[in-house]
Amino acid sequence: MRLVRQNDSNDVTKGGGSAPSGARGVTLCGSAAWARSAPIDPQVANRPFRRAQSALALLTVTALTVGCAGESDDTNVKPAAGQQLLKAPPAQALDEYATKLRQKHSARVTAVKRWGLPELPLSAPPPPKKKPHIKTRKGFEVDDHEGLPPVFTTIPTKDKVVFLTIDDGAEKDPAFLRMMSELKIPYTAFLSDYLVKKDYGYFKKMQDRGVVLNNHTLHHRYMPRLSYAAQKREICGMQHVIEKRYGKRPTLFRPPFGNYNEDTLRAAKACGIKAVPLWNEEVFADRWDYREWDRDLHPGDIVLSHFRGKEHWKGTMPDMVRRFMKLVTDRGYAVARLEDYL
Ligand SMILES: [Zn+2]
Repeated sequence: MRLVRQNDSNDVTKGGGSAPSGARGVTLCGSAAWARSAPIDPQVANRPFRRAQSALALLTVTALTVGCAGESDDTNVKPAAGQQLLKAPPAQALDEYATKLRQKHSARVTAVKRWGLPELPLSAPPPPKKKPHIKTRKGFEVDDHEGLPPVFTTIPTKDKVVFLTIDDGAEKDPAFLRMMSELKIPYTAFLSDYLVKKDYGYFKKMQDRGVVLNNHTLHHRYMPRLSYAAQKREICGMQHVIEKRYGKRPTLFRPPFGNYNEDTLRAAKACGIKAVPLWNEEVFADRWDYREWDRDLHPGDIVLSHFRGKEHWKGTMPDMVRRFMKLVTDRGYAVARLEDYL
């Protein structure tokens, strides 16, 4: 956001006491525009957000320039030869658009402050037009993997995005639902019925807010120890519960603890599962765990977390989200919707 800052300081310099009165009038219009579109914390420079910011600033300046010109005494400015006179309606439409953008931005700033995020989350790029081809991660294959759902921890993409996935369903914190809606942070849920059934309504509200509910088995057992038939009951049983309660049969399945064997994947496929996303990092209320030696995020990484509260870990769900968003934003990543890439 250095761009915005520089303009701010330029305006301040230009608007100083020694400037001629005519110049000050112009500067005041300009500085009002920049001040209104400035982010709350310009520390992290990021391209997607900077682009949106620049567009917003440009529109704002254009709109305000029109407004400022209208205040001028000289209302008889003639267009240059061959140029048409600017008409009011397009300028007004632009002004309305700029106002809407500003309102949207300031609602986001307010939400970020309200939920105690140290900085504005970065905006994710538009969903890819062509979905990436997903293969099983090396070393995660079962003996005869051909034709079975792929198991992966990262989506192949160059976009600087990560995906948040939240498992199990023990904690049902209404503040978490509000926080994620107001901040517009996408995530995907993997639910286990023995926890979810205590309050199906909570997850209905989650689904109503656009979250996709996926399969994490009926009873959260260690799958490799179960027979094929028992694994199928665990997975198909949960498919049935989600379809009955929420009207949609999941296509994603995550085995409890990330443990599976060939029977697990065969059973998952038989139950209609298309893909098995695991994770590359795990975020808790008080720390991060990494799968890779570099202890860093990578484009397309899937991040795991859990529906847990103070009795399960050192903090609340909003604490976990704050920890998640801080690192993700600090390292220049945006949070994208997993379903947009699958
Ligand atoms: Zn789990």
